[in-house]
Amino acid sequence: MVASVSFISPRETLVKNMEYEVKKGVLRGKLKLVELKTKLKIKIAENAGFCFGVRRAIKLTEKTASKECKVYTLGPVIHNPQEVERLEKKGVKTLKDPKKVKSGSIILRTHGIPFSLYKKLEENKKIDVIDAACPFVKRAQDTVKRLSTDIKSKDKTIIVVGEKVHPEVIALVSYGNGKCVVVENVKAARKFKGSGDLNIVSQTTQTPENFNSIVKVLKKRYKTKVYNTICRATLDRQKVAEKLANNVDLMIVIGGKNSGNTTRLAQICSAKTKTYHIETADSVKEKWFKNIDSVGLTAGASTPDWIIKGIEVKIRELAAKVSS
Ligand code: SF4
Repeated sequence: MVASVSFISPRETLVKNMEYEVKKGVLRGKLKLVELKTKLKIKIAENAGFCFGVRRAIKLTEKTASKECKVYTLGPVIHNPQEVERLEKKGVKTLKDPKKVKSGSIILRTHGIPFSLYKKLEENKKIDVIDAACPFVKRAQDTVKRLSTDIKSKDKTIIVVGEKVHPEVIALVSYGNGKCVVVENVKAARKFKGSGDLNIVSQTTQTPENFNSIVKVLKKRYKTKVYNTICRATLDRQKVAEKLANNVDLMIVIGGKNSGNTTRLAQICSAKTKTYHIETADSVKEKWFKNIDSVGLTAGASTPDWIIKGIEVKIRELAAKVSS
């Protein structure tokens, strides 16, 4: 199902914020004042923020941290520095080197980890391995694994459309028994030289445009079979963000600067309207709201609700100042 853009009125937003304030115990008075003074329309993409896979990973992490004290994640559990910091305060430590873990629980992140490392961790009986890899990422890994061992695909190269240095792609390639070649863009697809037929899969967060363009280039020269492993959550976010960007004077895209899917949302929006990609409320500037009537908000799949809410509140405060 394709999610739609939700146009939330100032009153609805205020009510939502009030609920949030009651929970957090902050900002109640300021919001009332803002509602009286600002006419800026804030439109929020319905699917802004956590996707299914990230929500699941955070739940698993919090559940584990509530039960025991030695909880580690191998690399940041999601690409959002503020959420990682919040989890650290609950005792979840981010590690680069799994050898440092002697006991406790280790949580594997949404993007997955290389196969050999997974095996090694599982063999260590002193550690509990909690796999928070997203089921859609696992589906892509299973596809690569199956293709690499399938007798019918024995002489075929597996093309992985994605970013070479991205952890998800590094993990995907590790399931391919040396048969994978990563192709990042059309230029690389044109340069590719192979000897047999191709199977093509994708990093889950690729844009369909990049994926399809690469497939088109390769199909001209090779017999190919295409496995579209792009995640719907990413597609839906991109479609809704684009639609929203077409209907507002300014877009604010919220999420980690290290988050691939947030960066792509910002790219899509900036092709349609003035766009800022920010991580926290501190980055919102009063001057952005001069002479505009509407602002759109969306957020990457790894952006928590509490950051989105905080930014929405800040926008209302600053917009009120501009219009007073
Ligand atoms: S964007 Fe898709 S693949 Fe990635 S974690 Fe979210 S649901 Fe999973």
